Amino acid sequence: MAVTPAAGPGGAYRAVIVGTGFSGLCMAIGLKRSGVHDFVILEKAGEVGGTWRENTYPGCACDIMSLLYSFSFEPKSDWSRMFPEQHELLDYIKGVVDKYDLAQHIRFRTEVTGAEYDDASDTWRVTVQGEGAAPGEVVRGQALMAGMGPLHQPNVPDLPGLASFEGETFHSAEWNHDYDLAGKHVAVIGTGASAIQFVPRIAREVGALTLFQRTPPWILPKPDRPVLGVERALFKRVPGVQRGYRSAIYLVQESFVLGFENPRLLKLASGLAQWHLKRQVPDAELRAKLTPRYTMGCKRTLVSSDYYPALTRDNVQVTTAGVAEVRPRSIVAGDGTEHPVDAIIFGTGFHVTDAFEHARIVGRNGLRIQDAWKDGIEAHLGVTVAGFPNLFLLLGPNSGLGHNSMIFMIEAQVRYVLRCLELLRAGGGSRIAVRAGAQDRFNRWVRRRSEGAVWVSGGCTSWYLDGNGVNRAAWPASTVNYWLRTRRLDPADFEVARLPAATG
Ligand code: NAP
Repeated sequence: MAVTPAAGPGGAYRAVIVGTGFSGLCMAIGLKRSGVHDFVILEKAGEVGGTWRENTYPGCACDIMSLLYSFSFEPKSDWSRMFPEQHELLDYIKGVVDKYDLAQHIRFRTEVTGAEYDDASDTWRVTVQGEGAAPGEVVRGQALMAGMGPLHQPNVPDLPGLASFEGETFHSAEWNHDYDLAGKHVAVIGTGASAIQFVPRIAREVGALTLFQRTPPWILPKPDRPVLGVERALFKRVPGVQRGYRSAIYLVQESFVLGFENPRLLKLASGLAQWHLKRQVPDAELRAKLTPRYTMGCKRTLVSSDYYPALTRDNVQVTTAGVAEVRPRSIVAGDGTEHPVDAIIFGTGFHVTDAFEHARIVGRNGLRIQDAWKDGIEAHLGVTVAGFPNLFLLLGPNSGLGHNSMIFMIEAQVRYVLRCLELLRAGGGSRIAVRAGAQDRFNRWVRRRSEGAVWVSGGCTSWYLDGNGVNRAAWPASTVNYWLRTRRLDPADFEVARLPAATG
């Protein structure tokens, strides 16, 4: 088996980062700032960007406002819109790569296929494949940072008869831009955050669109508009304005957490959503279909001002009858109606709580991640996992948000990882691992906090929950709470050790 030539001592990098999305790049910048330059970033694609590279569907944009959805240490004053579109986010990410001179660390077209902890050297052996890798290549690193993001494995449901379909099919995260939708009969499955963005765009060009809705989302108006020149000038020239604006957006977003715990505030927000629906959908029958029957916040609350109007178009039909069968050129709904279909587009989300079912990650003493997580995925603060030394998950279990910017969480996690590395260095160790007791304590707290929470008791299912209805993905408190918990590291939560050979 070929092994990549030496980076640091013994042929291992100080750190191997997986992915060039916001989290992988933030980790790289954090390492550089802390004086660590001996690291590599492995990227399966030929370009940086993570989720903002992968998702190119029409209308793809972020539903968190531009001024907040960026690194706190890398503000951008000239956003073109209040909510950033995918291409502008991708440009921002590329700009960050250039500014921090990260390209020299990135190996493109190098996909990670597995990672195994080598007890004899206290390093991770990361197996890679792809055009950028040698056959059977292994990249070694003392630390391994997983920045693949929780939403990157498309979920395509196994609909009855799907294999017999003769038309075009694709998932929202794998959009086929070569397929011309003009005049076509299109079925869209799913009505989540992605679908509500692309449905209004494609509804204008397709001949007919049948939207298969299983659960209607709660939708608030989206106060999007171009950023005015005068605002940009203010952000750029008047000290404090941009930061103040960013903080204000953060606080408004954060107030949703109060709502999840305070039914009166929630009533206010759901009243606004109902008003929005009533104003945009005059037809009572359609409105009834689109009215959620679960508590707001149970699933991610969405923002859109063009989704409902798209559904009122003559060429759009919403069906709630489910898919009974896919035939070569049509879909039969649960109520027996047959819809002629040229293309099926899946807006059906991602594998999240089951994303590691087939991952080949082996920790200390041969511990497989599937065995460590036989009862469900869990980590300490979403970052470290007992039995897997020197492994750091970015946006790992229970660190997802439905109400605020994930970049806030990423920055907090990167700081936490750097503290772990500092503890390792200060202790003169070669490995650092969270103690099982600390991880258990933390996860008992997560379970307690989640018990009555809206994600679990709000009367819906979502990607936050695993097959047993346990919250495995959502952070069950405010982001301030997360910041406080990750601001300092309790050395007692970790075991720092070194190889016997290094002891003497
Ligand atoms: P999603 O929110 O998980 O929505 C998936 C949709 O597909 C749901 O409507 C779901 O119905 C439906 N579905 C799944 N399996 C189905 C099946 N077998 N039959 C029928 N319907 C099925 O996925 P997403 O829209 O791709 O968004 C995923 C996450 O990505 C979001 O929650 C968000 O965190 C992120 N995202 C963010 C933005 C942004 O602007 N920041 C934009 C897009 C995505 P049920 O609800 O009944 O399960």
